[in-house]
Amino acid sequence: MKLLLIYTGGTIGMIQSPDGDLSPFDFDEVIRQVPEIKQMDCEIDTIQAWNPLDSSDINHNHWIKLANILNDNRSSYNSFVILHGTDTMAYTASALSFILMNFSKPIILTGSQLPIGVLRSDGRENLITSIELAMTKRGDNTPAIQEICVYFEYKLFRGNRVFKRSSQAFEAFSSPNYPILADVGVHIDVHEEYTLSPEKNYFFEPEMDSHIAVLKFFPGIDEAFLRNTILNSGRNAIILQTYGSGNVPKLDFLSDILDEARDKGVLIINTSQCPGGGVSQPAYAASRMLRHSGVLSAGDMTLEATITKTMWLLGRRKQGKVFEQLFLENLVGERTI
Ligand code: ASP
Repeated sequence: MKLLLIYTGGTIGMIQSPDGDLSPFDFDEVIRQVPEIKQMDCEIDTIQAWNPLDSSDINHNHWIKLANILNDNRSSYNSFVILHGTDTMAYTASALSFILMNFSKPIILTGSQLPIGVLRSDGRENLITSIELAMTKRGDNTPAIQEICVYFEYKLFRGNRVFKRSSQAFEAFSSPNYPILADVGVHIDVHEEYTLSPEKNYFFEPEMDSHIAVLKFFPGIDEAFLRNTILNSGRNAIILQTYGSGNVPKLDFLSDILDEARDKGVLIINTSQCPGGGVSQPAYAASRMLRHSGVLSAGDMTLEATITKTMWLLGRRKQGKVFEQLFLENLVGERTI
């Protein structure tokens, strides 16, 4: 068994500087803090993707770079573990799930809330168990995990179904709309019925268009702000974060703005401010207008999956009906409704 451990940065590899801030230190030091990984029953190679970054500095270009590293090494390794900051881990996991469609080998992202050098750090367990999970096999000797996941605090999540729920708790991630893929206690319990077994061919499409915007509704939102963001910001797609199951206030100017956007070829997507449940258009009269204006429902996708799927489809020059069809389809387990 060969595993590639990729380091991108994040709290797991940070150290406190004299002025009290946390900043990244290098990978050899991270590895020195976990000598146990040398005793694991697999050959582990390590690679640093770039100078370690706080994950708030990560953008679509880093996803493409990371995806290229994974693609280039796909046939040389059985599995992959990525050390990543927690702040944007869910975005990276979602983006990779689209770019590396049907990769069919375990790719597990993990990190920690406390640096690995700190006595109470959660990083040691997160790292060691991620490696174990990446090596776990099914009865037929195929990998138990064949998709992109996030492992954190005794739980394995589908990568394009998680979001960061807490900046302080060790249980930093949650997947409200899809079951956990594995629970870790004394035993590692993989819930096979929820895992993916890709049957389609692997394809690698490392293109992302970041010319999008997220617009969150709030009580009192006004016409000038909506008009400027939707029509005058030069975006190719606008993701509306609406209330509850996808509702918006009755504002007469809104349908005019959305019609104008459609005529200009700006895609409009409806996602909910509620992390659990998602959008069901139109459950209420308050969302009927959106459907009539051709707004696409993000269903129960996370905001992270919605953003990265939109960037990826636009990056691949998918427009109009083709965009619509692929966006509404469940491509890699990212949506059920
Ligand atoms: N700011 C850090 C990062 O995302 C937080 C963490 O890793 O937990 O890189």
